[in-house]
Amino acid sequence: MLIVQKYGGTSVGSIERIKAVAQRVAACKAEGNQVVVVVSAMSGVTNNLTAMAHELQKEPSPREMDMLLSTGEQTTIALLSMALQSIGCPARSYTGGQVRILTDSAHTKARIQKIDQEHMRQDLDQGKVVVVAGFQGVDEQGNITTLGRGGSDTTAVALAAALKADECQIYTDVDGVYTTDPRVVDNARRLDRITFEEMLEMASLGSKVLQIRSVEFAGKYNVRLRVLSSFEDGPGTLIVSEDESMMENPVISGIAFTRDEAKISVVGVPDVPGMAFKVFGPISDANIEVDVIVQNIGADNTNDITFTVAKKDAAAASRILESVAKEMGARGVEVEDRVAKVSLVGVGMRSHAGIASRMFEALAKESINIQLITTSEIKISVVIEEKYLELAVRALHSAFGLENPPK
Ligand code: ADP
Ligand code: ASP
Ligand code: MG
Repeated sequence: MLIVQKYGGTSVGSIERIKAVAQRVAACKAEGNQVVVVVSAMSGVTNNLTAMAHELQKEPSPREMDMLLSTGEQTTIALLSMALQSIGCPARSYTGGQVRILTDSAHTKARIQKIDQEHMRQDLDQGKVVVVAGFQGVDEQGNITTLGRGGSDTTAVALAAALKADECQIYTDVDGVYTTDPRVVDNARRLDRITFEEMLEMASLGSKVLQIRSVEFAGKYNVRLRVLSSFEDGPGTLIVSEDESMMENPVISGIAFTRDEAKISVVGVPDVPGMAFKVFGPISDANIEVDVIVQNIGADNTNDITFTVAKKDAAAASRILESVAKEMGARGVEVEDRVAKVSLVGVGMRSHAGIASRMFEALAKESINIQLITTSEIKISVVIEEKYLELAVRALHSAFGLENPPK
């Protein structure tokens, strides 16, 4: 079999850990498999490099950021190859550019366009383990690019798709995908399986266990994707298509949450046609992504238009809207960044009524005020005050019976 394994930052966080990864890789190879390994930078390295850049410049050039951040992964591919060689397992390391993982030129958020397989195939055929730097690629002009935070997951899935690997295994510091972040809810339960669609929603709504792009890729190219622990053996979680999921799907599979959003309101907007466009036109022109949108009519016949954006974009969005508000005769702009979004995700929601009311009931019991609500076919999200986030997640986790059965 051809297996692509990816090891995240904590899994390669020290020389000891790198040795342990080498053992795991060598064991997989000894079972007769061809192995391609993708590694992240050692934990903390990408953050440290970013902090150093910001000591020099407030907004460093994206091209130089990519040049800098890609060094983290370059370190670990060399160390892992050495560790493999030292235990008698032939290995060869490659940067993204050396494989030729061709991307567009959107520095710091590049997208993979094409992957050359030639070098990897040659090495695999010669019995070598191929060790590839995650998170990075190269554009047509030869500039180093990176794929966005958490991007090594995407490198691994993209390589698995290109090589038609039998499985792509994401090794991390938890032993699978849980009903919610196990760091927040102690009795969260590991899922044996989750559908691509649910995993995509979980990732998009804040569960950073897999990068969103990697799940998209896996769904599109039908890559068999599994999340496992690099610290202990176990089956992990398999990401499957809905027809493959076999059992009747649970109504709710998981709870995702994020603190990364801020809420912006344009208040006292005259109730005439074209106002929403006046608000969101310039926001979209500034390339700011908008998430939840709510408009409500006030008693005085004006509207409040409220929406959320990523916290990092809140200042820019409110700057833009200050002048827009003046122009259209609105009362003003309010920004609230101590908010959080909690979402219930499950494909079973399609065929079940009453999920929203159970959610609201659970939050009401904890006296948690809901500021915004948004739903789609397989998710319901609410925006609440950030300080209640963990309480809300725990309350919902237990209200929907997601915890481990008592031992
Ligand atoms: P890596 O460095 O291996 O890529 P990440 O930190 O990116 O690891 O992802 C693993 C982390 O994702 C876990 O430590 C866990 O805290 C977090 N996480 C968030 N939501 C979930 C979830 N539903 N299931 C499992 N882990 C989750
Ligand atoms: N090292 C990069 C990051 O910390 C990529 C990754 O770990 O997937 O975001
Ligand atoms: Mg990650």
